[in-house]
Amino acid sequence: MRASSSTYAARIRRFRLPRLCMPVVGPDASAMIERAESMVRDNPFMEFRLDYLSQPATALPKLKSFLEMHPEATAIATCRRAVNGGKFRGSVAAELNLLLKAADSGFPLVDLELQSVAALKTEDLQELSNRAGLIISHHNFRSTKKLEEQLAEMSKYPADFYKIVSTATNLYDNVVMMKFLEAHSAKHEMVGLCMGEQGIISRVLGVRAGSIFTFGAATRGEETAPGQVTASELRDTYRIETVDAATQVYGVAGDPVEQSLSPVMMNAAFRREAVNAVYLSLHAKSLKDLLACVHTIPIRGLSITMPYKQDIVKELENSDPLTRQIGACNTVVRSADGKLYGFNTDVAGVLVPLEQRLHLAGARVLLVGAGGVARAAAFGLKFKGAEVFITNRTPEKAQALARQAKVKYIKRADVAKQSFDVIINATPVGMGNNKQSPLEEKELNAKFVFDLVYVPAETKLIKMARAKNLQVIPGLEMFVQQGARQFEIWSGKPAPIAEMAYVVSKTLERRAAEEALEEKKPSAKRPSAKKVVRKPKKTARR
Ligand code: NAP
Repeated sequence: MRASSSTYAARIRRFRLPRLCMPVVGPDASAMIERAESMVRDNPFMEFRLDYLSQPATALPKLKSFLEMHPEATAIATCRRAVNGGKFRGSVAAELNLLLKAADSGFPLVDLELQSVAALKTEDLQELSNRAGLIISHHNFRSTKKLEEQLAEMSKYPADFYKIVSTATNLYDNVVMMKFLEAHSAKHEMVGLCMGEQGIISRVLGVRAGSIFTFGAATRGEETAPGQVTASELRDTYRIETVDAATQVYGVAGDPVEQSLSPVMMNAAFRREAVNAVYLSLHAKSLKDLLACVHTIPIRGLSITMPYKQDIVKELENSDPLTRQIGACNTVVRSADGKLYGFNTDVAGVLVPLEQRLHLAGARVLLVGAGGVARAAAFGLKFKGAEVFITNRTPEKAQALARQAKVKYIKRADVAKQSFDVIINATPVGMGNNKQSPLEEKELNAKFVFDLVYVPAETKLIKMARAKNLQVIPGLEMFVQQGARQFEIWSGKPAPIAEMAYVVSKTLERRAAEEALEEKKPSAKRPSAKKVVRKPKKTARR
């Protein structure tokens, strides 16, 4: 056997193979072609999952016509067997037969799992390899371990691409995958990524480490693995086609971070200001895991969110005086020598929207809540000369914060008896599907009501305040201002605030519309695409 065929790899390289491949699934040829037709203009690189078809052999003539009609398309044929996590119930011989036919139907690439490869005769594999570019793949659904051993086993067989897909159980697994890609991509044409919610780093940065391409789902709702990113997110938000060795890496780190709007906002800011940087969502289950990644990748800056805002402080080399006083940090900068510097931009996030509307010196401000954000607000407002009152569900916490920030504690029962210039909600009450208000209507005795909750945009508190003709400040303003300050610290450029606010509000609108649509649909009538791609857990891919 040949050591490694370069015929197809060279040809594919000449075509400038895109970095992004989209799986196409469907129960029959018509459904699959319909999906492919809708994708091909923006995503000409597609993987046709023949194993999803009830009758793959009879579908091939139609797929052949599609490929003839779309010479711009580069298509991979995959017919993964059920034992390897696919849906095909046939034998290895039947799988081979289908892939040979696929090659003859115009598929320039075929994908074969290592187990199938190992079961084939040398001459059969050679025959397949003569007719199409061969991708030998291996999937590990549990961990990111023994990558070297897997490659050693795979490279016994000649192929155009070796694809290794593992599962990230922590952030550092991404580093393991990328180091592996860096070590082998000079010798082999490699494709590598980590599945799982924590695999996002490898999905975006794997191409920089040497993965020839990566995979993205067709649409939200068609993800075939936890943590899978849609092709449009990879292209538009993470700009995967332009990620290169000079791209600086930033991210939001916390647990959970799945719903965070920071990637949408910060990537839009980087794009707008032409900063060669990418901003990722880093689901860190421990600070130790996060810090190991920060130093190895290396990550230039972090937005820190729950539950690490306080714990990160002791890991910092230095921070500004206010951050030290508050004892919580939401922004980290990693200098070239690896030292970590911390800032708290939540303070600016609360103060800037207020200062755009009133003078804080002498203003009476009621703070509801005594958690991390309330802390930043209390110290910041006090610094600006405001008269701050804190109330909280757990009075002892409000009393302690009031003592530390040298402001006043107020019993909840006394709130209705007082009037304020500003009331700030620094609790999660009203967030998401929680349609409650942290205060009653009679307690809203203020000129301004600032709800730090920003999902949904119109919380019950905001609605109540509007009904009383009070001026409202939505939580989105804090979100944008704290992000703008982070952008400025990291890039040294003024933040494109209007652009940041625009993308966040558009994303919130889209998510609200999607949720409303989902709620309206009886479960039996949910989108057919979802039904088409739903797989048993073990078959989850990329
Ligand atoms: P945190 O540290 O967990 O503190 C939460 C505070 O809310 C605590 O004082 C807690 O009271 C109180 N609380 C929680 N559930 C409550 C309930 N059901 N009823 C009454 N009080 C309740 O959270 P954080 O980091 O300060 O964040 C607070 C909120 O601010 C977040 O949920 C988020 O919506 C918002 N936020 C907005 C932005 C933005 O950019 N707009 C940024 C960060 C946070 P106990 O002391 O009694 O537990």
